[in-house]
Amino acid sequence: MNVKIFLMCIVLAASSSSATDLQINAKRMEERIAALSQFGKNPEGGVSRVAFSDADIAGRNYIQTLLKEAGLQVRIDTAGNIIGKREGKNSSLAPIVFGSHIDSVPGGGNYDGDVGVIAAIECIEVLKAADQTTQHPLEVIVFSDEEGGLVGSKSMAGEFHESAMEIKSHSGKTIREGVRAIGGDPDRINEAQRSKDNITAFLELHIEQGGILESEKINIGVVEGIVGINWWDVTVQGFANHAGTTPMNQRKDALLAAAKLITAVNEVVTSIAGRQVATVGRIKAEPGAPNVIPGKVVMSLEIRDLSAEKIQMVYEKIQEKAKQIEQQSGTTITFNALDTTAVPALSDERIRKIISEAAKELGFTYKLMPSGAGHDAQDIARIAPMGMIFVPSVGGISHSPKEFTRTEDMANGAAVLLHTILKIDSGSLK
Ligand SMILES: [Zn+2]
Repeated sequence: MNVKIFLMCIVLAASSSSATDLQINAKRMEERIAALSQFGKNPEGGVSRVAFSDADIAGRNYIQTLLKEAGLQVRIDTAGNIIGKREGKNSSLAPIVFGSHIDSVPGGGNYDGDVGVIAAIECIEVLKAADQTTQHPLEVIVFSDEEGGLVGSKSMAGEFHESAMEIKSHSGKTIREGVRAIGGDPDRINEAQRSKDNITAFLELHIEQGGILESEKINIGVVEGIVGINWWDVTVQGFANHAGTTPMNQRKDALLAAAKLITAVNEVVTSIAGRQVATVGRIKAEPGAPNVIPGKVVMSLEIRDLSAEKIQMVYEKIQEKAKQIEQQSGTTITFNALDTTAVPALSDERIRKIISEAAKELGFTYKLMPSGAGHDAQDIARIAPMGMIFVPSVGGISHSPKEFTRTEDMANGAAVLLHTILKIDSGSLK
């Protein structure tokens, strides 16, 4: 037996009279991750299990079988979310809800989302084996179409917009067709919405998808929140002219000004204390010929942080730099905010503390950290107190067949998840 898991048994046994054998079965988790990775497996060793595909439907069937075998009552809501319920001793209490997703990006890996779902089922298995019933009802949720636009979690939070229904997903089906194909009802998708007092707490275990925990040799990430993301199209307008006959001091070179702006973005974002990030990831120069001075450049700007105010502050400093570059280069620079903004979603401070305590009691190292990637939890945070647990991703690789999380790390995360559920069940949120 793993020392840490053994320790957990002692801790849990001490906190609950009927908890005698609350042991995470790491091998079972590993086997189930392997079994799930058969659905939509790609030649590179990962999965291409995009939402609404045949592979997604087959994977969902497999998960539903596991949920039923674990003794849960399984239903599919109108958004196609799979919900497995275990009654509590006190049916007047709102459920403690936990889960993640099993759909992948095209050419994805075997751990993104899957670890959270398999760990959620593992928590139920452990409670069932110990014949332990919680006060609160428990619900395991497998959200529909996370990677294609957080369809299931947005619907549950009442944030899904009808206009997205006709978007074509990677499966080739529109979201409307896809939701129907997995057992939902797109015409009644609003009915998937849960009210604010309907969930006691929502917890999601997920792989970090970055390399911080592994490089710092830390077992558990306690997520402070999911960063907000703002996008702009930045247009630098210069003057296209002959590259041979126009002297250097008479040019209005849009690409040269854009290059200075890209450098300025990096200088601004690194000159301020904090963990904000900013990226220029796309650039297009016109007319795009070797013998013409670039007259126009359109480039992207993305800023992410846990604080919307911080994002705004970084943006304003970048604008100031842009004004200086305009004057020096004779160009004009305009910023056009795009409608793809995601607002920051903070985790519940009390749940952060509970997860930290659970990790500490189990003998794990842990650290508070933001999530730079989006998750279902960011939507559910609008309707329920939310907490997220990260486990290490080897090499920080994700959205790739090379994505990998060690079995021991998955089991550690599941133990923290279970312990957090039991702490919340015994009233730690009050
Ligand atoms: Zn994910």
